[in-house]
Formats: sequence, C-alpha cells, structure tokens
Amino acid sequence: MTLADIHNHPLALASIWCIGRNYAAHIEELGNARPDSPVIFSKPQTAVNTDSVITLPEFSADIHYETELVVRIGRGGRNIHPEDAQDYIAGWGIGLDLTARDVQEQLKAKGLPWERCKGFDGAAWVSPFLPAETFSVDDNIEFTMALNGEPRQHGCTQMMIWPIRELIAVLSRTFTLREGDLLFTGTPEGVGRLQAGDKIVLTLGSLTRKIVVSL
Ligand code: ZN
Repeated sequence: MTLADIHNHPLALASIWCIGRNYAAHIEELGNARPDSPVIFSKPQTAVNTDSVITLPEFSADIHYETELVVRIGRGGRNIHPEDAQDYIAGWGIGLDLTARDVQEQLKAKGLPWERCKGFDGAAWVSPFLPAETFSVDDNIEFTMALNGEPRQHGCTQMMIWPIRELIAVLSRTFTLREGDLLFTGTPEGVGRLQAGDKIVLTLGSLTRKIVVSL
C-alpha cells in the first residue's frame, strides 16, 4: 500500500480502538494478569491494511498474528449505554492485530507504551465489513483463523470477558466514538509468529479472506 493509497483509503479517518486481554485462555498463554477493566490501546490510521498481502516489517523478528472480531462504528457518540450498543454498529469484520512480540516484551518490561509494537504500518489488517444486521450484538459470533491449512484460532463472543455492549460503553466513557471507527475486540488463544510465505485464511460468517505473508 502506498502512502497515497493510505491517505485516500475509506478508513483513513477512522480511529482504531483495540482491546487487550479480553479472552481468559489468551491471557494465560502470554502469562499476563487478568485486568479488572478492559485494556484499551489505539493504532494510527497508517496501520490499516486491507490488501491480500501482509509485508513483514524489518525492525522485528517476531511478528505475531492476533485474530480478532472487528466492529465498525456507524454513529458517533459518547457515554453510550450498553443497552444501546447495537444502534452504534455499522458492520462486522475480521482483523489481525499484528504485534511485534519481541518489541512488546521489551516495552512491557519497562512499562512503556505499545505504539512501536502494535501501531507500525500495516499492523491493523482488516477485512471488508458484513452489514450490521448480519448479527445481533447478543449473538454468539464465531470467527476462525488457519495458518498454512492448520486451524490456529477460534474465537466467539461468548468467550469474551467483556462483551461488545460493555466494550462500546466503556470506550465511549473516555473517548468520543465517530462514524467509521474500528474496534478490535481482542484475540482468543492460539497466537503465533508469522513467516514469509505463510498463507492465512480468516472466516467470519459468510466472509472468507485469504492473505499471503511476504518479506
Ligand atoms: Zn490484540
């Protein structure tokens, strides 16, 4: 993706909100503590990638995939009540919260922010969006990721520590949500390293996306 593509991209004005540690089994696999409120971080707009190719950045030797359900926000708001969350959803997608795990370990050890490990160019891969009415916010929405033909991640909204209604409510108490914003809702267990030549298949309902990893 060129810089001009990024600036002209329909998602170019979106804020990209991400939730960490929203699935118990993934918290355990990374040896993290279970937080008492959702872990929130964001990525810059230049992190968006909607191509069928992921190019590994040179600064890290350990880029991990984290497969996540992504909510596209359809209406701006603040202090959104959990009961009204469905009205603020424009679509459902699947995404990869790409993470430079080696860099993240260094940052975590020093208590530093995560932009370098989670906000680099292309770190927010995202699919096209299924329309809002495809799912209800209370459905058990399932998604999968396979790497080189092997199933690696399976997530569903029932496994989330904080359900989507709660995520939208909590986020909007601190940040104004705007139409077009993206919300990455956290990853289930099964994260791992990507290598050049890997083939990824993501599914969410009727949506299937194939991605190739390159150097
Ligand atoms: Zn994540």
